[in-house]
This record gives sequence, C-alpha cells and structure tokens, in this order.
Amino acid sequence: MKHSIIACILFFCLSANARQSANNSIETVKIPILCYHQVRNWKSTDSKSSRTYIIPVETFIRHIVALRDNGYTPVSASQLVDYVNDKGVLPSKPVLITFDDGSESQYVNAFPILVRYKIKAVFFIMSVTIDHQRFMTRKQIKDLSDYGFEIGCHTWDHQPTTKYTIEADYQHQLLKSKKDLGQITGRQVSYFAYPYGSWNVEVIKHLQAYGYKAAFQLSGICDKQAPLFTMQRILVDGHWDASRLLKEINRTSINHLIHTDKYQD
Ligand SMILES: [Zn+2]
Repeated sequence: MKHSIIACILFFCLSANARQSANNSIETVKIPILCYHQVRNWKSTDSKSSRTYIIPVETFIRHIVALRDNGYTPVSASQLVDYVNDKGVLPSKPVLITFDDGSESQYVNAFPILVRYKIKAVFFIMSVTIDHQRFMTRKQIKDLSDYGFEIGCHTWDHQPTTKYTIEADYQHQLLKSKKDLGQITGRQVSYFAYPYGSWNVEVIKHLQAYGYKAAFQLSGICDKQAPLFTMQRILVDGHWDASRLLKEINRTSINHLIHTDKYQD
C-alpha cells in the first residue's frame, strides 16, 4: 500500500520525565525504540525509496545480533510504561522493537527470528488490511499475541490522526480498531502508533479517554505534558547495516533523565 512508502518511521526514545530521587542521583540514559516495517528480501521491483521500509532478512538478523552483542536487552512496551509510571525497573540498556502496518512479512520472517533470539516486540496493526494480501491474517495476529508479543493499534485505515474532524472519526479510527484487535487477540489493546507520526493534543485526549496507556510517534518533539503519548522512535532504514543501526542509536540527541536507583543492572 502507498502508506507503507510514506513515513511511519520514527525514532523513539522513551520520554520519561526527570524525577528527583532521595539523593538527587539522576542520570541521563537513552532508551531507543526502533520502528521497522517490512522484513523481507528486496525484489528487483522495489525502488530505492521503498527499500527504506523493507529490511532484508539477513540484515534484520544482524541488527538483532548486534543489539544483543552490544548489551541491549529488548523490553516490552508494558515494561517501559510501568517504568515511567514508577511501577517497575528496566535493564541497564533497554531497547524496544516495534513493527508498523501489519505486513505479512513481519509474521513470516521476523516472528521466527524474534522467537529464536527471545526478543520482545510490539506489532502495530491497522485494521483495514487484516486478512488482505501481503498483510497479516486474524489468525497470524492471534498467534503473535498468544506467543506473548504485544499487539497495538495503528488506526483503522492509516489516516493521519490530525485530520480527524468529527467525533465519529476518532471513534472509528481509534476505538473501533482497538476493540477489533481486542476481539482478535482476546487481550486489552493498550498501545497506539500514530500513522506518519503525526499527533495533536486533541488526539491524545481521545486516546486517553479510550483507555490507551501510551502512544508512539516518530521523530517529533516529545510533549512534556504527555510523554507517554508522544514517545519517539527511530525509523530503521532498510539500507542500514548493523553498525549503522548502532551509530544511529548512539547519535540520537534524545535522552532521558531517570533515577539511578531505578536503573537496574
Ligand atoms: Zn504506518
């Protein structure tokens, strides 16, 4: 779909507010949140720009191995949210891996790799493409959920959230899609990814009213009033090798201040 060529890529680092500890021991740490799209080998018909959103299988494996070999521990969205809400701790180098759009390649190619390397991840699904060619089926989504992966919402049909004008738009795109995914998985859907990373305060209000716990953008500025609903991600380019991925993680200017006493080895 055309939407997959457009950026839904965001560089994410968790935007946790700085919190004062008893001894003022505050440390700046990065919590990279990676955003992948398709995971499959390139075809001759894939344009250079479309390959930005398509990571070859072997490259994806190298990314996963490089993260592991450099000390990163994949965490779930729930772990991040609990951490921000002072309900949990994180490993010393956490990383959250996310997938947008619901491409079947994520199930066919990424799923077994994630299982092999014991990687946690979140899959943000848009409802309209479920059971359509090249996208995941209801059963595949259920499989991912049953295996322990988190399933998040990515709207009904990938319309930018900032374009919604009437209440019915919000309900259809943010609430109906949430309920549909909940019916498929049998689990509460608590996380949301903004198509194209675009959001505004009105959208956040609706997400909160509908029971979402967090929402992920791309590289936009985090809202200090709603850090959990403007979490930034790194859009992983399909052309990046493993060393480039690590450089991109290291070069990000997005940092987060957290308690050192919450930073667990
Ligand atoms: Zn998308």
